[in-house]
Amino acid sequence: MTKFLSDSDKEFIWTNSGNTMSMMTEYEVIPTPKNYHLWYTYSANSDLNLTKVIDSLVEKKMSFNEELNEKLYEKFFAAEKELKTIVETGATFQKELAKIITVLKDAGNDTSEHTKALMDHMDKLSDFKGSDELKDIIRLVISDTDKIKEQSEKLEEKLEESTIKIEGLQTNLNNARLESRTDALTNIGNRKFFEEKISEYMNNFEKIGHDLCLILCDIDYFKKFNDNFGHQIGDQVLKVVAHVIKKELGFMGSAARYGGEEFAILLPKAKLADGIKLAENIRSIISQRVIRNKTTGANFGRITMSFGVASIHRGLKAEDLIQRADSALYLSKSSGRNMVQSELELDQIVSGQNSISA
Ligand code: GH3
Ligand code: MG
Ligand code: MG
Repeated sequence: MTKFLSDSDKEFIWTNSGNTMSMMTEYEVIPTPKNYHLWYTYSANSDLNLTKVIDSLVEKKMSFNEELNEKLYEKFFAAEKELKTIVETGATFQKELAKIITVLKDAGNDTSEHTKALMDHMDKLSDFKGSDELKDIIRLVISDTDKIKEQSEKLEEKLEESTIKIEGLQTNLNNARLESRTDALTNIGNRKFFEEKISEYMNNFEKIGHDLCLILCDIDYFKKFNDNFGHQIGDQVLKVVAHVIKKELGFMGSAARYGGEEFAILLPKAKLADGIKLAENIRSIISQRVIRNKTTGANFGRITMSFGVASIHRGLKAEDLIQRADSALYLSKSSGRNMVQSELELDQIVSGQNSISA
Protein backbone atom coordinates (compact mmCIF):
# COMPACT_ATOMS: atom_id res chain seq x y z
CA MET A 1 0.00 0.00 0.00
CA THR A 2 1.46 3.39 -0.96
CA LYS A 3 1.24 6.47 1.20
CA PHE A 4 -1.67 8.07 -0.67
CA LEU A 5 -3.56 5.43 -2.59
CA SER A 6 -5.64 2.63 -1.14
CA ASP A 7 -6.13 -0.63 -3.07
CA SER A 8 -9.57 0.46 -4.21
CA ASP A 9 -8.11 3.79 -5.36
CA LYS A 10 -5.64 1.94 -7.48
CA GLU A 11 -8.26 -0.33 -8.95
CA PHE A 12 -10.52 2.64 -9.69
CA ILE A 13 -7.67 4.56 -11.35
CA TRP A 14 -6.64 1.57 -13.48
CA THR A 15 -10.22 0.93 -14.57
CA ASN A 16 -10.92 4.57 -15.22
CA SER A 17 -7.66 5.03 -17.06
CA GLY A 18 -8.54 2.11 -19.36
CA ASN A 19 -12.04 3.50 -19.93
CA THR A 20 -10.58 6.93 -20.67
CA MET A 21 -8.24 5.55 -23.32
CA SER A 22 -11.02 3.49 -24.93
CA MET A 23 -13.29 6.54 -25.09
CA MET A 24 -10.55 8.73 -26.55
CA THR A 25 -9.83 6.08 -29.17
CA GLU A 26 -13.54 5.76 -29.98
CA TYR A 27 -13.96 9.53 -30.42
CA GLU A 28 -10.57 9.89 -32.13
CA VAL A 29 -9.21 12.25 -29.49
CA ILE A 30 -5.40 12.65 -29.39
CA PRO A 31 -4.30 11.74 -25.83
CA THR A 32 -2.42 14.96 -25.04
CA PRO A 33 -2.08 15.59 -21.26
CA LYS A 34 -4.88 18.19 -21.39
CA ASN A 35 -7.22 15.92 -23.37
CA TYR A 36 -6.42 13.02 -21.04
CA HIS A 37 -7.29 15.19 -18.01
CA LEU A 38 -10.58 16.19 -19.65
CA TRP A 39 -11.61 12.68 -20.65
CA TYR A 40 -10.42 11.08 -17.42
CA THR A 41 -12.67 13.48 -15.48
CA TYR A 42 -15.55 12.61 -17.80
CA SER A 43 -14.93 8.89 -17.51
CA ALA A 44 -14.73 9.12 -13.68
CA ASN A 45 -18.02 11.04 -13.72
CA SER A 46 -16.57 13.43 -11.16
CA ASP A 47 -17.74 16.74 -12.62
CA LEU A 48 -21.52 16.92 -13.06
CA ASN A 49 -21.41 19.80 -15.56
CA LEU A 50 -18.67 18.28 -17.66
CA THR A 51 -20.57 14.97 -17.81
CA LYS A 52 -23.76 16.74 -18.91
CA VAL A 53 -21.98 18.76 -21.63
CA ILE A 54 -20.00 15.83 -23.10
CA ASP A 55 -23.06 13.55 -22.93
CA SER A 56 -25.07 16.03 -24.98
CA LEU A 57 -22.20 16.49 -27.48
CA VAL A 58 -21.96 12.69 -27.86
CA GLU A 59 -25.72 12.54 -28.41
CA LYS A 60 -25.43 15.19 -31.13
CA LYS A 61 -22.65 13.09 -32.67
CA MET A 62 -20.22 16.02 -32.58
CA SER A 63 -16.69 15.49 -33.76
CA PHE A 64 -14.31 15.91 -30.83
CA ASN A 65 -11.67 17.69 -32.86
CA GLU A 66 -8.75 19.66 -31.40
CA GLU A 67 -10.74 22.89 -31.27
CA LEU A 68 -13.67 21.38 -29.36
CA ASN A 69 -11.38 19.62 -26.87
CA GLU A 70 -9.47 22.85 -26.28
CA LYS A 71 -12.74 24.74 -25.71
CA LEU A 72 -13.97 22.12 -23.22
CA TYR A 73 -10.67 22.18 -21.35
CA GLU A 74 -10.73 25.98 -21.14
CA LYS A 75 -14.34 25.94 -19.94
CA PHE A 76 -13.93 23.32 -17.24
CA PHE A 77 -10.38 23.59 -16.01
CA ALA A 78 -8.96 27.02 -16.84
CA ALA A 79 -12.16 28.75 -15.73
CA GLU A 80 -12.20 26.83 -12.43
CA LYS A 81 -9.06 28.62 -11.18
CA GLU A 82 -10.62 32.00 -11.93
CA LEU A 83 -13.94 31.15 -10.31
CA LYS A 84 -12.63 31.47 -6.75
CA THR A 85 -11.19 34.92 -7.46
CA ILE A 86 -14.47 36.04 -9.04
CA VAL A 87 -16.53 34.84 -6.06
CA GLU A 88 -14.19 36.57 -3.62
CA THR A 89 -14.10 39.79 -5.64
CA GLY A 90 -17.92 39.74 -5.87
CA ALA A 91 -18.20 39.42 -2.08
CA THR A 92 -15.85 42.36 -1.47
CA PHE A 93 -17.66 44.48 -4.06
CA GLN A 94 -21.00 43.70 -2.45
CA LYS A 95 -19.70 44.76 0.98
CA GLU A 96 -18.43 48.06 -0.42
CA LEU A 97 -21.74 48.69 -2.16
CA ALA A 98 -23.62 48.10 1.08
CA LYS A 99 -21.37 50.68 2.77
CA ILE A 100 -22.13 53.26 0.05
CA ILE A 101 -25.87 52.64 0.42
CA THR A 102 -25.65 53.24 4.17
CA VAL A 103 -23.76 56.49 3.62
CA LEU A 104 -26.37 57.61 1.07
CA LYS A 105 -29.24 56.71 3.36
CA ASP A 106 -27.67 58.69 6.19
CA ALA A 107 -27.13 61.62 3.83
CA GLY A 108 -30.77 61.35 2.69
CA ASN A 109 -32.00 61.41 6.28
CA ASP A 110 -29.81 64.42 7.07
CA THR A 111 -31.17 66.25 4.01
CA SER A 112 -34.79 65.51 5.05
CA GLU A 113 -34.09 66.90 8.50
CA HIS A 114 -32.49 70.02 7.06
CA THR A 115 -35.45 70.57 4.71
CA LYS A 116 -37.85 70.19 7.63
CA ALA A 117 -35.84 72.66 9.71
CA LEU A 118 -35.84 75.15 6.86
CA MET A 119 -39.64 74.81 6.47
CA ASP A 120 -40.05 75.54 10.18
CA HIS A 121 -37.91 78.64 9.86
CA MET A 122 -40.04 79.68 6.86
CA ASP A 123 -43.19 79.44 8.97
CA LYS A 124 -41.63 81.70 11.56
CA LEU A 125 -40.65 84.13 8.82
CA SER A 126 -44.23 84.36 7.46
CA ASP A 127 -45.08 87.09 10.02
CA PHE A 128 -41.95 88.96 9.15
CA LYS A 129 -43.03 91.91 6.95
CA GLY A 130 -41.06 93.57 4.19
CA SER A 131 -38.66 90.73 3.59
CA ASP A 132 -40.10 89.07 0.46
CA GLU A 133 -36.68 88.99 -1.13
CA LEU A 134 -35.24 87.05 1.79
CA LYS A 135 -38.24 84.67 1.78
CA ASP A 136 -37.67 84.01 -1.94
CA ILE A 137 -34.06 83.14 -1.28
CA ILE A 138 -35.04 80.71 1.45
CA ARG A 139 -37.69 79.15 -0.81
CA LEU A 140 -34.99 78.62 -3.43
CA VAL A 141 -32.71 76.99 -0.88
CA ILE A 142 -35.56 74.64 0.17
CA SER A 143 -36.40 73.70 -3.39
CA ASP A 144 -32.73 72.99 -4.20
CA THR A 145 -32.39 70.92 -1.06
CA ASP A 146 -35.46 68.93 -2.12
CA LYS A 147 -33.90 68.29 -5.51
CA ILE A 148 -30.72 67.01 -3.89
CA LYS A 149 -32.81 64.73 -1.69
CA GLU A 150 -34.71 63.40 -4.70
CA GLN A 151 -31.50 62.70 -6.59
CA SER A 152 -29.90 60.94 -3.68
CA GLU A 153 -33.03 58.78 -3.26
CA LYS A 154 -32.88 57.80 -6.96
CA LEU A 155 -29.21 56.91 -6.65
CA GLU A 156 -29.95 54.90 -3.53
CA GLU A 157 -32.66 52.95 -5.40
CA LYS A 158 -30.29 52.21 -8.30
CA LEU A 159 -27.57 51.03 -5.94
CA GLU A 160 -30.01 48.75 -4.16
CA GLU A 161 -31.02 47.25 -7.52
CA SER A 162 -27.33 46.66 -8.30
CA THR A 163 -26.80 45.02 -4.92
CA ILE A 164 -29.63 42.56 -5.61
CA LYS A 165 -28.15 41.76 -9.05
CA ILE A 166 -24.68 41.22 -7.58
CA GLU A 167 -26.12 38.96 -4.90
CA GLY A 168 -27.77 36.89 -7.67
CA LEU A 169 -24.51 36.62 -9.61
CA GLN A 170 -22.68 35.57 -6.48
CA THR A 171 -25.25 32.85 -5.78
CA ASN A 172 -24.77 31.55 -9.35
CA LEU A 173 -21.01 31.49 -8.94
CA ASN A 174 -21.24 29.77 -5.58
CA ASN A 175 -23.57 27.15 -7.07
CA ALA A 176 -21.11 26.54 -9.91
CA ARG A 177 -18.29 26.09 -7.40
CA LEU A 178 -20.43 23.73 -5.35
CA GLU A 179 -21.35 21.64 -8.42
CA SER A 180 -17.72 21.24 -9.41
CA ARG A 181 -17.07 19.78 -5.96
CA THR A 182 -20.04 17.41 -6.00
CA ASP A 183 -20.00 13.77 -7.05
CA ALA A 184 -22.49 13.41 -9.90
CA LEU A 185 -23.78 9.97 -8.90
CA THR A 186 -24.18 10.24 -5.14
CA ASN A 187 -24.58 13.99 -4.80
CA ILE A 188 -22.10 14.24 -1.93
CA GLY A 189 -18.66 15.89 -2.12
CA ASN A 190 -16.09 14.52 -4.56
CA ARG A 191 -12.37 13.99 -4.12
CA LYS A 192 -11.64 17.66 -4.87
CA PHE A 193 -14.07 18.68 -2.11
CA PHE A 194 -12.39 16.24 0.29
CA GLU A 195 -8.95 17.63 -0.47
CA GLU A 196 -10.10 21.19 0.10
CA LYS A 197 -11.82 20.30 3.36
CA ILE A 198 -8.96 18.29 4.81
CA SER A 199 -6.52 21.11 4.15
CA GLU A 200 -8.96 23.61 5.71
CA TYR A 201 -9.35 21.45 8.84
CA MET A 202 -5.61 20.73 9.01
CA ASN A 203 -5.03 24.45 8.92
CA ASN A 204 -7.42 24.87 11.87
CA PHE A 205 -5.55 22.15 13.72
CA GLU A 206 -2.13 23.67 13.10
CA LYS A 207 -3.18 27.29 13.76
CA ILE A 208 -5.91 27.00 16.43
CA GLY A 209 -5.38 23.47 17.71
CA HIS A 210 -8.85 22.17 16.70
CA ASP A 211 -9.14 18.38 16.70
CA LEU A 212 -9.85 16.41 13.55
CA CYS A 213 -11.05 12.88 13.01
CA LEU A 214 -11.14 10.97 9.71
CA ILE A 215 -13.28 7.96 8.86
CA LEU A 216 -12.59 5.99 5.67
CA CYS A 217 -15.11 3.35 4.74
CA ASP A 218 -15.45 0.90 1.88
CA ILE A 219 -18.26 -1.39 0.71
CA ASP A 220 -17.47 -5.06 1.30
CA TYR A 221 -17.30 -7.45 -1.66
CA PHE A 222 -18.81 -4.84 -3.92
CA LYS A 223 -17.32 -6.37 -7.03
CA LYS A 224 -19.31 -9.50 -6.31
CA PHE A 225 -22.47 -7.46 -5.77
CA ASN A 226 -21.98 -5.77 -9.15
CA ASP A 227 -21.30 -9.14 -10.77
CA ASN A 228 -24.48 -10.59 -9.25
CA PHE A 229 -26.93 -7.74 -9.81
CA GLY A 230 -25.32 -5.43 -12.37
CA HIS A 231 -23.54 -2.12 -12.26
CA GLN A 232 -26.75 -0.07 -12.26
CA ILE A 233 -28.03 -1.67 -9.06
CA GLY A 234 -24.50 -1.17 -7.72
CA ASP A 235 -24.87 2.53 -8.47
CA GLN A 236 -28.12 2.60 -6.48
CA VAL A 237 -26.24 1.09 -3.53
CA LEU A 238 -23.66 3.87 -3.72
CA LYS A 239 -26.51 6.38 -3.55
CA VAL A 240 -28.04 4.66 -0.52
CA VAL A 241 -24.68 4.61 1.27
CA ALA A 242 -24.08 8.31 0.54
CA HIS A 243 -27.58 9.12 1.79
CA VAL A 244 -27.08 7.26 5.08
CA ILE A 245 -23.68 8.89 5.64
CA LYS A 246 -25.06 12.36 4.95
CA LYS A 247 -28.06 11.82 7.22
CA GLU A 248 -26.06 10.45 10.15
CA LEU A 249 -23.31 13.06 9.80
CA GLY A 250 -25.71 16.02 9.71
CA PHE A 251 -23.81 19.26 10.23
CA MET A 252 -21.03 17.65 12.26
CA GLY A 253 -18.55 17.55 9.38
CA SER A 254 -17.94 16.88 5.69
CA ALA A 255 -18.44 13.70 3.68
CA ALA A 256 -17.10 12.81 0.25
CA ARG A 257 -16.93 9.95 -2.20
CA TYR A 258 -13.24 9.27 -1.89
CA GLY A 259 -12.93 6.71 -4.65
CA GLY A 260 -15.13 4.17 -6.50
CA GLU A 261 -16.91 2.52 -3.53
CA GLU A 262 -14.99 4.24 -0.78
CA PHE A 263 -16.19 7.21 1.25
CA ALA A 264 -14.42 9.66 3.57
CA ILE A 265 -15.92 11.51 6.51
CA LEU A 266 -14.11 14.40 8.15
CA LEU A 267 -15.14 15.36 11.67
CA PRO A 268 -13.64 18.65 12.77
CA LYS A 269 -13.32 19.38 16.50
CA ALA A 270 -14.03 15.69 17.21
CA LYS A 271 -12.09 13.16 19.25
CA LEU A 272 -11.29 9.63 18.07
CA ALA A 273 -14.12 8.25 20.24
CA ASP A 274 -16.66 10.48 18.44
CA GLY A 275 -15.43 9.20 15.08
CA ILE A 276 -15.63 5.56 16.21
CA LYS A 277 -19.16 6.13 17.51
CA LEU A 278 -20.35 7.67 14.25
CA ALA A 279 -18.64 4.97 12.17
CA GLU A 280 -20.26 2.24 14.29
CA ASN A 281 -23.64 3.92 13.88
CA ILE A 282 -23.33 4.10 10.07
CA ARG A 283 -22.00 0.53 9.90
CA SER A 284 -24.95 -0.77 11.86
CA ILE A 285 -27.57 1.11 9.79
CA ILE A 286 -26.04 0.01 6.46
CA SER A 287 -25.77 -3.62 7.52
CA GLN A 288 -29.46 -3.73 8.40
CA ARG A 289 -30.72 -1.98 5.27
CA VAL A 290 -32.32 -4.28 2.71
CA ILE A 291 -31.47 -3.15 -0.83
CA ARG A 292 -34.58 -3.17 -2.99
CA ASN A 293 -35.43 -2.14 -6.52
CA LYS A 294 -37.61 0.96 -6.08
CA THR A 295 -39.99 0.10 -8.91
CA THR A 296 -40.18 -3.70 -8.90
CA GLY A 297 -39.54 -4.18 -5.17
CA ALA A 298 -37.02 -6.93 -6.01
CA ASN A 299 -34.82 -7.79 -3.05
CA PHE A 300 -31.02 -7.67 -3.50
CA GLY A 301 -30.21 -8.56 0.07
CA ARG A 302 -27.91 -6.55 2.28
CA ILE A 303 -24.46 -5.07 1.97
CA THR A 304 -21.90 -4.35 4.64
CA MET A 305 -19.10 -1.84 4.99
CA SER A 306 -15.72 -1.76 6.70
CA PHE A 307 -14.42 1.31 8.49
CA GLY A 308 -11.06 2.80 9.52
CA VAL A 309 -10.89 5.72 11.96
CA ALA A 310 -7.92 7.94 12.82
CA SER A 311 -7.46 11.25 14.59
CA ILE A 312 -4.98 14.05 14.27
CA HIS A 313 -1.93 14.35 16.52
CA ARG A 314 0.92 16.85 16.65
CA GLY A 315 3.47 16.18 13.95
CA LEU A 316 1.05 14.39 11.62
CA LYS A 317 0.39 15.74 8.14
CA ALA A 318 -2.86 15.29 6.17
CA GLU A 319 -1.38 12.36 4.24
CA ASP A 320 -0.32 10.68 7.52
CA LEU A 321 -3.87 10.98 8.84
CA ILE A 322 -5.23 9.47 5.61
CA GLN A 323 -2.63 6.70 5.77
CA ARG A 324 -3.59 5.84 9.37
CA ALA A 325 -7.33 5.74 8.58
CA ASP A 326 -6.56 3.65 5.49
CA SER A 327 -4.46 1.20 7.52
CA ALA A 328 -7.27 0.89 10.08
CA LEU A 329 -9.71 0.24 7.21
CA TYR A 330 -7.35 -2.39 5.86
CA LEU A 331 -7.30 -3.97 9.32
CA SER A 332 -11.12 -4.11 9.31
CA LYS A 333 -11.01 -5.84 5.92
CA SER A 334 -8.38 -8.34 6.97
CA SER A 335 -10.13 -9.03 10.31
CA GLY A 336 -13.38 -10.14 8.66
CA ARG A 337 -15.09 -6.97 7.28
CA ASN A 338 -18.35 -5.33 8.46
CA MET A 339 -16.50 -3.71 11.36
CA VAL A 340 -14.89 -0.53 12.65
CA GLN A 341 -11.20 -0.49 13.47
CA SER A 342 -9.21 2.54 14.53
CA GLU A 343 -5.71 3.72 15.21
CA LEU A 344 -6.10 2.22 18.70
CA GLU A 345 -6.06 -1.32 17.28
CA LEU A 346 -3.23 -0.35 14.91
CA ASP A 347 -1.17 0.94 17.84
CA GLN A 348 -1.92 -2.25 19.80
CA ILE A 349 -0.60 -4.34 16.92
CA VAL A 350 2.55 -2.24 16.71
CA SER A 351 3.15 -2.43 20.49
CA GLY A 352 2.47 -6.21 20.38
CA GLN A 353 5.04 -6.61 17.61
CA ASN A 354 7.54 -4.52 19.58
CA SER A 355 7.11 -6.63 22.73
CA ILE A 356 7.62 -9.83 20.71
CA SER A 357 10.81 -8.51 19.15
CA ALA A 358 12.08 -7.05 22.47
P1 GH3 B 1 -13.48 -5.52 -0.53
O1 GH3 B 1 -14.42 -6.06 0.46
O2 GH3 B 1 -12.09 -6.02 -0.34
O3 GH3 B 1 -13.52 -4.04 -0.58
O4 GH3 B 1 -13.95 -6.09 -1.94
P2 GH3 B 1 -14.56 -5.28 -3.14
O5 GH3 B 1 -15.05 -6.24 -4.16
O6 GH3 B 1 -15.55 -4.29 -2.66
O7 GH3 B 1 -13.29 -4.46 -3.62
P3 GH3 B 1 -12.57 -4.38 -4.96
O8 GH3 B 1 -11.58 -3.25 -4.78
O9 GH3 B 1 -12.04 -5.70 -5.39
O10 GH3 B 1 -13.67 -3.95 -6.01
C1 GH3 B 1 -14.29 -2.70 -5.96
C2 GH3 B 1 -15.48 -2.74 -6.84
O11 GH3 B 1 -16.21 -1.52 -6.77
C3 GH3 B 1 -15.08 -2.91 -8.29
C4 GH3 B 1 -15.90 -1.91 -9.04
O12 GH3 B 1 -16.65 -2.50 -10.04
C5 GH3 B 1 -16.85 -1.34 -7.99
N1 GH3 B 1 -17.09 0.08 -8.25
C6 GH3 B 1 -16.24 1.12 -8.16
N2 GH3 B 1 -16.86 2.27 -8.55
C7 GH3 B 1 -18.12 1.94 -8.89
C8 GH3 B 1 -19.25 2.69 -9.37
O13 GH3 B 1 -19.21 3.89 -9.58
N3 GH3 B 1 -20.42 2.01 -9.58
C9 GH3 B 1 -20.51 0.63 -9.37
N4 GH3 B 1 -21.66 0.06 -9.58
N5 GH3 B 1 -19.45 -0.09 -8.94
C10 GH3 B 1 -18.28 0.54 -8.70
MG1 MG C 1 -12.48 -0.20 -2.42
MG1 MG D 1 -14.83 -2.73 -1.42
